[in-house]
Amino acid sequence: MLEINQLTKFYESKKVLDSLNLNINKGEICGLLGANGAGKTTTINIICGLLNYEQGSIFINGQKLSKKSKYYLGVSPQENLLYSHLTCVENLAFFGKLYGLKGTKLKSSIYECLKAVNLLDKKDDTVSALSGGMQRKLNIAIALVHHPLLLILDEPTTGLDIEARYDIWQLILRLKQEGMTILLTTHLLDEAEKLCDRLCIIKQGKIVKEGSLNDLKNILPAKELIFIKCEQEEKLIEIAKKQGFNYRYYQGEIAILSEEILELSTIIDIFSEIYLTSVTKVNINLQHIYLEIINN
Ligand code: ATP
Repeated sequence: MLEINQLTKFYESKKVLDSLNLNINKGEICGLLGANGAGKTTTINIICGLLNYEQGSIFINGQKLSKKSKYYLGVSPQENLLYSHLTCVENLAFFGKLYGLKGTKLKSSIYECLKAVNLLDKKDDTVSALSGGMQRKLNIAIALVHHPLLLILDEPTTGLDIEARYDIWQLILRLKQEGMTILLTTHLLDEAEKLCDRLCIIKQGKIVKEGSLNDLKNILPAKELIFIKCEQEEKLIEIAKKQGFNYRYYQGEIAILSEEILELSTIIDIFSEIYLTSVTKVNINLQHIYLEIINN
């Protein structure tokens, strides 16, 4: 559905996208993850035709990016793009008309979009009267009003409370079930883990790793992490190294990387020379994988 080849972008002399390759298959949710400034929004803005670029090619639905591509794309930007004094229906009508919708087609599309995001009962409320979560959902509805093939969601739940976030997750999963292809950026790794079929990690304008969560798990040389608290950390590291274990720090806490699942009693035996305050076995999740990629 989306094919980006060797995309390179400079801001003056600064290279912000560096031969970036990104492919999204029809019907999948692809997560674009990376640190602040990695190049996510720049990539999205180029796909949307808002920024030019120096090198590379972009195909949407098999066609080279052009002015016509806007009909294939629905974009929900990081900052809501809503008119606060207009109602939900008026906002949708305004954006629908920009895509050439009118009459019964426009009306039925507005109805479908409001239904899809569960805002039918708020249709005549002004945006300023909606909660943050509802405004975010309306922002997504607007991206859907012209029936795009590819939906781009730039940090769709940033700043929302947990219930509003779960509500939007359900909405995104429903859209996928209905066949929508989605490019999602987020800093929330639990969100990416829950929603994305495939993850693309961008670092300094380049995709450095991509794959499903399972594919990416191989990046860490471990089956599980063993978080150990003790007074003698240097000794702990010395024993771990002697025994051939790797280790990492996560939020200041040391974790031993074990290539096999170890019984608690075995771990205590291995480190029997030191007094262990606590030992916690943790499954590898996207946070560990992401840090491994970003820090190497
Ligand atoms: P965030 O997660 O904070 O949204 P991002 O991954 O979306 O970050 P971009 O906004 O694409 O990152 O920025 C990529 C790089 O381009 C950064 O170094 C940023 O400072 C730079 N940049 C972005 N916009 C401009 C601009 N208008 N002029 C100059 N440099 C820019």
